[in-house]
Amino acid sequence: MSGLRSVAWYRPGHRAGGLPVSGPDEDAFTLAAEAIERSAEQARAPDGVARLVLFGAVPSELDWAFPVLLGYPVEIRHERANPRTLLEAIDRENDDGAPASLVVAVEYSPDSATSEVGSITGTSGEGAVAFRLGPGGSPIEGSVRDRAASSGSVLDAAFALWPPLAETAPVDRSTGDGPVARGPAEPPRAPELGAGTGPVLSAVSEGAYVPRPRYLENLPSRWRLRAERCDACGSLTFPARGRCRSCQRSDRLRFEELPRRGARVIASTVIGPGGQPTEFDFQVARSGAYQVVLAELSPEARITLPVTDGTPGGVRIGDRVDTSIRRLFPMEGEWRYGRKAVPLRTHDPTSF
Ligand SMILES: [Zn+2]
Repeated sequence: MSGLRSVAWYRPGHRAGGLPVSGPDEDAFTLAAEAIERSAEQARAPDGVARLVLFGAVPSELDWAFPVLLGYPVEIRHERANPRTLLEAIDRENDDGAPASLVVAVEYSPDSATSEVGSITGTSGEGAVAFRLGPGGSPIEGSVRDRAASSGSVLDAAFALWPPLAETAPVDRSTGDGPVARGPAEPPRAPELGAGTGPVLSAVSEGAYVPRPRYLENLPSRWRLRAERCDACGSLTFPARGRCRSCQRSDRLRFEELPRRGARVIASTVIGPGGQPTEFDFQVARSGAYQVVLAELSPEARITLPVTDGTPGGVRIGDRVDTSIRRLFPMEGEWRYGRKAVPLRTHDPTSF
């Protein structure tokens, strides 16, 4: 018997009109990515899925990015986002014999300025829910199904499908993922790129210009924090570079993924306007100064991360941070994505 095996969700920390809305460095892809990563953390064994079904405004131009995020090949389907199609997809993915799959519902509205949330169709605001389906899962009861079918948005329907969430609705549902981010309560929304007045996506940065092939090549290290353990001398090399940093051997390396949560901050700096590399001009023009931290992923591996969802300087040395895939900067006609440090929130334990 197939059914729902687990549900993971993510709602952004910013608020507008009381509803969770995405921050300036979030979009449909990053919302989906966060829910998918949480779903993977939740799975006790590293059991991959064969198919990813996406509901919401995730552009198909980013289909290449999901196998990179997951670390293995996956078949991707995009579906029209409404409660009925979500239920149909879950039924279809639940058919006996269907391979394990992830159904991800995303609510993201590029048009919604924080001062106006009219374009968000449901009552749950923005966010993403990832359903893991496969053998041994729980079937969905008829009453739950009916409630989901009559929901106002695909995200509302997704929340209605998971009774532990529905029980806490509506009071906790908008904040169930932890307190509001420590940043400005209602930050200005980023204009969408390509909307005419936004930044020029084709702008060539004078700063740390990274050609697209190198960006893609480095993503396993940047997104999945992939390091190499040397079985000859025991050293860890991060980011992975195909050669041990201690003994220089390349024949005894195996991949090791470093933890994405709980990194300890060991150094911090705030970049004021004018001090940024040019690829961050757009971000600084919109959000002002930003913080960068050096954090320990493990005793042997450090990483430099921009901080998001917080006041510049709000993360202190010794603090723990989570990491999350966010928009970094526009380059060569597209957004580049990478990990940023997120100040630890008190997570609802049922969300992982
Ligand atoms: Zn070595």
